Amino acid sequence: QTKKSGRNGFRFFEPAMSEGAIERLHLEHDLRLALQRDEFILHYQPQVDLTTGALMGVEALCRWPHPTLGMLLPSLFIPMAEELGLIDELGLKVLELGCRQMATWDAAGLYVPRLAINLSVRELERSELPGQIAEILACTGLDPKRLELEVTESKLMRQADMAIFALNAMRTLGVTLAIDDFGTGYSSLSYLKRLPLNRLKIDRSFVEGLTQDVNDDSIARAIIALAHTLGLEVLAEGIEVREQADFLFREGCVEGQGYLYDRPLMPDELAAHWLKASE
Ligand code: C2E
Ligand code: MG
Ligand code: MG
Ligand code: MG
Repeated sequence: QTKKSGRNGFRFFEPAMSEGAIERLHLEHDLRLALQRDEFILHYQPQVDLTTGALMGVEALCRWPHPTLGMLLPSLFIPMAEELGLIDELGLKVLELGCRQMATWDAAGLYVPRLAINLSVRELERSELPGQIAEILACTGLDPKRLELEVTESKLMRQADMAIFALNAMRTLGVTLAIDDFGTGYSSLSYLKRLPLNRLKIDRSFVEGLTQDVNDDSIARAIIALAHTLGLEVLAEGIEVREQADFLFREGCVEGQGYLYDRPLMPDELAAHWLKASE
């Protein structure tokens, strides 16, 4: 039998079980341990005003410094945490880490206007989440206006009714909301109109071809126009070259992030490169 999982949910561990599967089991075990031991960290990528280059905010991006495998990226461990039912715990750690970091910068006289945190749609399903976010905000003293929550468009639209409810609950806390990877998720415009949003983030895949691929030019233009029509702000992600930034700004997109400005940085690097202590 080559079946991995029987009718009753048993798993058959066969001698032929692939190395990949065994590695995965190790990783799952490590992930639980890393959560218990608080080993996840955040890197912060600047979000800038495309004309002045001023720092408008930072996006927190989760990293896992694995003891033997090196620095692991979220594309590896976020889906795993979701499957294992650990994403809520990880998500709360991320929120807490980020908000605490903002308090640390504040206390040092270093001002980061806004903190953006990625939320998995799985996390939105839990009705306790808004209360837990309120608690983290209260404990860290972060003004809710300075916290932005990002949810990926494609995942959001699959559960649009739930999302509308959950995002409304978030909004009453005073935080702002952004749709991430916008343009990849086939948003229904009628749902988009009903979501309590502040910002659309143009997906990197469209920014990549700007000024080289007329389709990307048109898509970016259309997203910017849509954002303006709906009264939303717009931010482009994955800006790597000056021509992309110039195009976006000409078309009315005011903010962006990407390697042109900086990669995701450790907190002290961000402070050194981007923050000046106020007198
Ligand atoms: P995202 O939220 O769309 O984040 C942007 C990703 O693009 C990040 O990848 C960032 O490092 C990368 N990036 C930034 N600028 C550039 C650029 O100029 N060029 C290119 N090629 N890439 C750029 P990263 O850090 O690997 O994160 C991947 C995804 O994992 C994120 O996509 C987000 O959806 C998810 N993620 C990250 N941290 C968390 C978290 O704490 N919780 C949850 N639920 N998801 C997270
Ligand atoms: Mg994001
Ligand atoms: Mg994105
Ligand atoms: Mg993305």
